Amino acid sequence: MPQTVPRPWLDPARALAPSLVRWRRHIHQHPELSFHEVETAQYIANELRLMGLEPQHILPNAVIAEVGDAGRGPTIALRADIDALPISEETGLPFASLTPGVMHACGHDGHTAILLGVARLLADQRENIPGRIRLLFQPAEEIPPGGAEQLIAAGVLNGVSAIAGLHLWSPLPSGTAAAIPGPAMAASDRFTITIQGRGGHGAMPHRCIDALETASRIVVALQSIVSRSVDPLDAAVVTVGRFSSGTAFNVIAGEAVLEGTVRTLREEVRTLVRERLHTVVEHTAASASARADIEYIEGDPAVQNDPGVTAIVADIAEEHLGGGAIRSGPPEMAAEDFACYLQHVPGSFLLLGTANEHRHSTFPHHHPQFTIDEDVMPVGVSILTETAYRLLERFAS
Ligand SMILES: [Zn+2]
Ligand SMILES: [Zn+2]
Repeated sequence: MPQTVPRPWLDPARALAPSLVRWRRHIHQHPELSFHEVETAQYIANELRLMGLEPQHILPNAVIAEVGDAGRGPTIALRADIDALPISEETGLPFASLTPGVMHACGHDGHTAILLGVARLLADQRENIPGRIRLLFQPAEEIPPGGAEQLIAAGVLNGVSAIAGLHLWSPLPSGTAAAIPGPAMAASDRFTITIQGRGGHGAMPHRCIDALETASRIVVALQSIVSRSVDPLDAAVVTVGRFSSGTAFNVIAGEAVLEGTVRTLREEVRTLVRERLHTVVEHTAASASARADIEYIEGDPAVQNDPGVTAIVADIAEEHLGGGAIRSGPPEMAAEDFACYLQHVPGSFLLLGTANEHRHSTFPHHHPQFTIDEDVMPVGVSILTETAYRLLERFAS
């Protein structure tokens, strides 16, 4: 039966372009923050119903839909994330956000439209699909622990043989993609360090314990973790993004608070950096007779793309975009909660280029002027649809 299925899907996907643009712009205009995507979920479910599918709200802000029949073959999952960010939009687009301070600045509006497009193509084929395809419209990708964990706990991976997803990616030009086997995106952890000293008069440091000075040395010392403790062939980032201390020019600060993030690609390196961070902070504080409290929160794990599934996705992407348009590395140090699915089932996460100067889509993700190249959406639909079919073949028993 697979040979009777029309391939490639590019022409039917291109015919869907007006719908893709309509879906994407509606969602863009009505963004909702992570964990609050209730109207977005209702909109998605309604569009799926219009296609003749039977969406389920497994959470008020999440939708899944199934196409095909598990009696005919394996189950493959495809995932899109649907949440927006607390950013005030500055694109000036006619369909810009109508909600002040909230914006689709990561491309999740495009991901949602693309998966709706996949649903549309699959709905026409529902009697012929050699298995079952489960479409996951996932909330809360941007705030770990997020929507992926919630959906997994709700059972969306039950019976699933493999999963695929994509991110529209502005660091890559439109017409290119990255299918990266193995570690593809970083684990993301977060820390808050509170230094307790003893405040006092700026002219009498010997009677005080200067928390600001101690925290300054900690910021510098933390940079030695990557340069001196991590194997130079392993990737890691330690960033202190916030430093808060002091009240006046002539007062020695009794407290300082540092906040930052750790990004790593391998679990061993993640553990090493975490342990070294504790050692560096505690010993630096102790050398000043200050006290350090460390709150260390593990976020998303690294995205570990299955090499076999990634080879399939890379082939499909190359069939669509041409030889030389697909890169297999290096990994990205940004994080993605798609990683959570990959801890349970094999799968692959594709980065699909969307940077196009003519479409003003070269701004970085999470920038107030971020937008996507809508012309890439039909390609995304075709790649994901074909991926689902080939994974059904690959995992057929
Ligand atoms: Zn994002
Ligand atoms: Zn994103």
